[in-house]
Amino acid sequence: MIREDFLPLARPVVGPDEIAAVTEVLKSGMWTTGPKVAEFEREFSAYLNAEGGVHTVALNSCTSGLYLSLLALGIGAGDEVIVPTWTFAATAHVVEWAGAKPVLCDIEEDSLNIDVQKAERLITENTKAIIPVHIAGYPCDMDAVASLAEQYDIFVIEDAAHAVGTKYFGQKIGNLSDITTFSFYATKNLAMGEGGLAASKDERLIEKIRKLSYFGINKEAFKRYEKRGTWFYDIEALGYKCNLDSMHAAVGLVQLRKLDAMNERRRAIAAAYKKGLSRRLTFTKDSDEHFHTYHLFPVLIPSSMDRDTLITGLRDRNIGTSVHFRPLHLHSHYRLAAEKFPVAERLFPRVLSLPMFSSMTDEDIDYVITNINELVGS
Ligand SMILES: *Cc1c(COP(=O)(O)O)cnc(C)c1O
Repeated sequence: MIREDFLPLARPVVGPDEIAAVTEVLKSGMWTTGPKVAEFEREFSAYLNAEGGVHTVALNSCTSGLYLSLLALGIGAGDEVIVPTWTFAATAHVVEWAGAKPVLCDIEEDSLNIDVQKAERLITENTKAIIPVHIAGYPCDMDAVASLAEQYDIFVIEDAAHAVGTKYFGQKIGNLSDITTFSFYATKNLAMGEGGLAASKDERLIEKIRKLSYFGINKEAFKRYEKRGTWFYDIEALGYKCNLDSMHAAVGLVQLRKLDAMNERRRAIAAAYKKGLSRRLTFTKDSDEHFHTYHLFPVLIPSSMDRDTLITGLRDRNIGTSVHFRPLHLHSHYRLAAEKFPVAERLFPRVLSLPMFSSMTDEDIDYVITNINELVGS
């Protein structure tokens, strides 16, 4: 039986609390950056629970976070930054925006994360940073990244767009590197619609990013709307316009309180998938050492199967899927020789993301399993 409604790849959780939180902000008249945003930053810092404290600045996207991180670290013309080829456009585009050169790197077969040994071979005297991406919510080998960074004196900016709540050996992603950026885009584990955040143990870096996020005006800028504020402000640098507003922050505060439960549900869905899905599919790496938050559930289909036929077959049965990611080196803008990326080349035709969001019901999960197994064979 084909279900009546379409089961999407992802869907944000919307409850009465999110609606009430936005309504409260609308009625308050304080719509832009203000106390709600500061409250979100404080609660998110507490959530990261770093020893010694971690500082945060909320932004309008993870992309802004990555871009402003590069600027705050002084990375620009003549510099090179290593990024995985298996990622979204944002991770590499920001490097070019900053005037530097993105150097694409191949990935590990089992986790789809950047291969740090291959990254080492790409280091030159111009390399200034590496941007590991925790694909699907499974952490990169951050010990290897940290020793690479120390040995070659380069910065580490983590693209944790998929990894809010992910733990690396018991430590939450967000307090391991120079700067970590999160995404609160509509499909992400903590969703606001659009939104992001940069986290660092270095308060000066976060204050630099905060200043760059609002025209280069010092952090007292938003107080000018409050009774205690003054009209005076000074533009100290050529900043941008990447601040988060209060409506998004209010949704984020509600979602943050639900985040652990939502992540646990994603893990339970992943466990059910792994139990029920055909053995002809290959799953990506998970391990008891870390806490995988399953932003995505990518599978590798048998190399003998045609992916587009499977995608169409699933769509005809009202199941949404997608591909994460078409490697950057295959896109027109980044086009590079395939030989440099043997693993990404080999895995790309086989990868498929299945529906994964915390409000999926047990019936939804069974429906996906039954239909995939029919199409893939067991
Ligand atoms: C979603 C995503 C981003 C961008 O996040 P935005 O908040 O939309 O800017 C960056 N990197 C990866 C890997 C992503 O999936």
